[in-house]
Amino acid sequence: LLGAIGDERVLEGLHFDSYPIVEKVTPILTAYKMVSRDFQKEDSVISIGGVKLGGGHLAVISGPCAIESYEQLYTTAVGIKESGGTILRGGAFKPRTSPYSFQGLGVEGLKILNRVSQEVGLPTVTEIVDICDVDSVEEYADAFQIGARNMQNYRLLQAVGKRNKPVILKRGLAATVDDLLMSAEYIASEGNTNIILCERGIRTFETATRNTLDLNAVPYLKQHCHLPVIVDPSHGTGVRELVQPMAAASVAAGADGIMIETHCNPTMALSDGKQSLDLEQFEDLMVYISKFVDVVGKEMQNKS
Ligand code: PEP
Ligand code: MN
Repeated sequence: LLGAIGDERVLEGLHFDSYPIVEKVTPILTAYKMVSRDFQKEDSVISIGGVKLGGGHLAVISGPCAIESYEQLYTTAVGIKESGGTILRGGAFKPRTSPYSFQGLGVEGLKILNRVSQEVGLPTVTEIVDICDVDSVEEYADAFQIGARNMQNYRLLQAVGKRNKPVILKRGLAATVDDLLMSAEYIASEGNTNIILCERGIRTFETATRNTLDLNAVPYLKQHCHLPVIVDPSHGTGVRELVQPMAAASVAAGADGIMIETHCNPTMALSDGKQSLDLEQFEDLMVYISKFVDVVGKEMQNKS
């Protein structure tokens, strides 16, 4: 069995079906090919700095929306680790809606992330917003995050596709799940198949919450694609009190991980304070979701 991927016009021109050694040519019907279940039946298991996601492994990624200082990240990371969180997140390059909002500490933030990661023993993920930062994010973090606003930034997708580090690809604010899969295909087609998909809520007519968390996406993506799927109920709801129940619902729906914004002092957070849990609330969430993790028969594993 041989798979061929590339420009459809070129493949047709090769007339594979006329070769005597070829019994049958079956086109893969989905527009996305490498990430599709047709292409690979078994779940992909992706490791972020030794912590696995997919194939029965569930990870809890947590940390502040933005890295604000060494003290802030260190205190938050220690609390997350003590409660059983498995991967540390924190933005150094923040894609803010307003140009006047805190934009992140940049490379200085990446260095803080790297230092805290080593001191606390948690692997890391951080957002990349520009191709020119691929080298520095790769140097200081264990995984790239492509944010909702850049899901269809195809040059950026191709740039991380040329590297080996895992990529967490978040669903765009107004993107369909098939758009998300096509964006994942952009990364995979460059050679990097270490991709994790993230549902983080979409824009709807509903205004009571920041976004509408589309949990339909979880089983849909799991059925059509072999990549791990995680959920971010922090951005999905935008409301601290809704994060724990929706995190549990995400696990119940089959997610391979959750991403939770946690801050050592949410009232002072420079971004997304309203949706950030404090360390005690994060501990409560971990205790609560562990029952759901057991029910779905998944395993939460720390860095080995
Ligand atoms: C984030 O994870 O802090 C973030 C900006 O998320 P999103 O891209 O989903 O808005
Ligand atoms: Mn945020």
